[in-house]
Amino acid sequence: MIIHDARFLTSNSRADLCPAPTLPEYAFIGRSNVGKSSLINMLTERKALAKTSSSPGKTQLINHFIINDNWFLVDLPGYGYAKVSKAARAEWAKMINYYLRNRANLMCVCVLIDSRHAPQAVDLEFMEKLGEEGIPFVMVFTKADKQSTAQTKALVTEYLRKMSEIWDELPRYFLTSAETGLGRDEVLDFIAEVNSE
Ligand code: GDP
Repeated sequence: MIIHDARFLTSNSRADLCPAPTLPEYAFIGRSNVGKSSLINMLTERKALAKTSSSPGKTQLINHFIINDNWFLVDLPGYGYAKVSKAARAEWAKMINYYLRNRANLMCVCVLIDSRHAPQAVDLEFMEKLGEEGIPFVMVFTKADKQSTAQTKALVTEYLRKMSEIWDELPRYFLTSAETGLGRDEVLDFIAEVNSE
């Protein structure tokens, strides 16, 4: 897929205020600092479409971008900040759950996972929840340039092994790097493929 247009649309604190669900939508989410903003900028070939390293204290918003005038890319607030208060965590869960359950045009959630760390409970739990709710998702391993391909693949295998303890059908996954552009074509082709179904 060639990205000829990528624009920021809106930021919302509530899913029911998001743009009318007129186009297929792909949401990106992961632990804070996973490399989400960098990945969005890499995919869209825009230097600062998504703002990198937003501070945890900031308001948590659902950010909509429109790509090529035919699909929405959504930057969802991340999870797993140790310093976030219980109240803020509950607020995040409320907002995200509502969004995931009610967004009619949501085609797929791209769950970002830092490829340098052993499987994390918070990521596994989030994906387990998506599976239980029947929400389509893929795993996007980030920062693959930081280690050897063999190390990244070993981590992927470990994730899939853990997930196979619960699920018969395993999610699709992508290895990416915002530094090298690894995985860009694969992720965009996947989106194009779902859009054309
Ligand atoms: P976010 O909080 O999930 O949006 O993460 P950011 O995109 O702000 O990235 C967090 C940190 O990881 C920044 O210092 C980035 O430069 C770095 N980073 C993000 N993606 C990559 C990558 O693919 N490779 C490398 N080497 N560093 C990355």
